[in-house]
Amino acid sequence: MQFYNTKTREIENFKPLKQDMVKVYFCGPTVYNYAHIGNLRTFVFEDLVIKTLKYLWHRVKTVMNITDIDDKTIAGSQAAGLKLAEFTSKFTDAFLADIAKLNIDRADEIVPVTSLMPEMLKIVNKLLTRKMAYVWEDWSIYYDISKFEDYGKFANIDFAGMKAWARVDNDEYDKENASDFVLWKAWKKEDGENFWEEKFMINGEEKVLKWRPGWHIECSACNMKYFGPQIDIHMGGVDLIFPHHQNEIAQTEALTGKEFSKYWLHSGHLMIDGKKMAKSANNFYTLSDLISKYKDTPENVVTRAIRLSFLNGKYRENIDFSFSKLESNIVVIKKIDELLKKLKRTYDNLWEENNKISKAFSMDLQGFMMDYVDAMEDDLNTPIAISVFNELITYLNSKIDSLEITKKEILASIDFLKSFNRILSIIDFSLFEKEDEIIPDNIAGLFEARNTAKTDKNFELADKYRDELLAFGYKIIDDRTWTKLEKI
Ligand code: AMP
Ligand code: ZN
Repeated sequence: MQFYNTKTREIENFKPLKQDMVKVYFCGPTVYNYAHIGNLRTFVFEDLVIKTLKYLWHRVKTVMNITDIDDKTIAGSQAAGLKLAEFTSKFTDAFLADIAKLNIDRADEIVPVTSLMPEMLKIVNKLLTRKMAYVWEDWSIYYDISKFEDYGKFANIDFAGMKAWARVDNDEYDKENASDFVLWKAWKKEDGENFWEEKFMINGEEKVLKWRPGWHIECSACNMKYFGPQIDIHMGGVDLIFPHHQNEIAQTEALTGKEFSKYWLHSGHLMIDGKKMAKSANNFYTLSDLISKYKDTPENVVTRAIRLSFLNGKYRENIDFSFSKLESNIVVIKKIDELLKKLKRTYDNLWEENNKISKAFSMDLQGFMMDYVDAMEDDLNTPIAISVFNELITYLNSKIDSLEITKKEILASIDFLKSFNRILSIIDFSLFEKEDEIIPDNIAGLFEARNTAKTDKNFELADKYRDELLAFGYKIIDDRTWTKLEKI
């Protein structure tokens, strides 16, 4: 498998540090509000990378943090009149529900930052002892970026002319404001009851201070706790390259002297009208917004269509969100659902005769699979993978329509679709597996009457019964050799 490594700025072959387990970390959400679909695009991308690794037989362990303490969560909880933990747990739950709806697998470890105090404390103390960090006059502790030789290299920023001793205590800032960044923030009135009292070694003396952590230290501590000094892959949205990932590298590598992560993968942004979707720009939609907008469409059709919209773009490129694109993806998902239902109907109605898999059929399926895997191994080229998938859908439809398919071939097709879906996660297999619903007697009677009318060529009467069935919520499906009733 090959992918683009932000660190080397090259497409590289993936080679795990150790064959037995690939260690994968990605930065989780800040739980001060509902995630927007821009955030969710990044989590779909990360899910795709992990599923592709697993598909290619790697054993993978995944860890994600949850930022449940920072300026935004504290301000939000105070505005809502709630304790921080109550406030953040509501949005953590909402986030986990959203990712489940998008068929994103949960990380093996989901780690709230407030559970990492001992690890963060340890790192800050070590950085102080090694003089990579210093205490400022308000008792906040800052990382001294001039002490880290390669600071800026990861983010491709040249700090040669940097102003010395400038400091930022905001977690988010741009490269123009790059300077020493805050590791631990001294308590301020606005923080209210959200602080920890911890012992620090300052100039050889132990001092107890009231603090809370800065943002970047979380991920260094989380990785150290669950993985140790080195991991294989670290991921996030492209906006995290600077300062967040640069700072994670500076902290971790200053402590361990080892390369923190071998590969760094970043996804492009979800844009809307040419601008990055962001809460601050107030140009965002949440998953619930979209589900309510399309309330006449089954929820799992809308959510799979959203996932498909993300897969239609290359992960490293920005993609534009639009309702018209989403609507055409809803149509695609409905077509996939129709295929599943058609496979099921055909399966139920086929005779057992000639029940084998032809060589040509099996070769055709293998061909689709090879093209699909090639595309995924090529820096996760999902647009190509999706076009191969669409060709497969067309192929299966034509096989069914021309009645050139056997029962065994239908089961083989389902297995192939399942294999494709291990990464794509956009197919609803319950449509194939579901047993026929029991049809009430009055409906069955109408259906029979309609079929008799049709056989008698009394089409007017047949149409009348068909409309009555429709009014009861049943659709008649006629094929060349059989007729079936389906609940809408
Ligand atoms: P946050 O909850 O702000 O910490 O962000 C969670 C993830 O969403 C991070 O990996 C960000 O890079 C990512 N993200 C934020 N905005 C967008 C966007 N418009 N498109 C794609 N990813 C985004
Ligand atoms: Zn992080």
